[in-house]
Amino acid sequence: MEKWLKPVRKCSGCKLNLGERCAFFSNPREKWRHGLCPGYNNEELIKKYEEELAKHPPKEDKIQRQKVAESRHTAEHQTGKSKVSTLRSVH
Ligand code: SF4
Repeated sequence: MEKWLKPVRKCSGCKLNLGERCAFFSNPREKWRHGLCPGYNNEELIKKYEEELAKHPPKEDKIQRQKVAESRHTAEHQTGKSKVSTLRSVH
């Protein structure tokens, strides 16, 4: 598994930043190593991503699960085995 999947702080504001990963690059940290990321709000890459998304839209049951998770303030674990609360515990 790739070690640095998550977008870095400099990725904020990029339309390809999906929160947990970059829509286009597998290693966002590496892309910023030598200056500005070539994909930062790159219209061509955004268009490619949207075309790819249109070819493979998310399934209805997945959308339904996401709505339920949002209403319960939980998120599905990446493996899909358990649910992780996104609420911070107050002591
Ligand atoms: S395209 Fe570049 S700036 Fe945008 S999220 Fe990916 S790594 Fe970050």
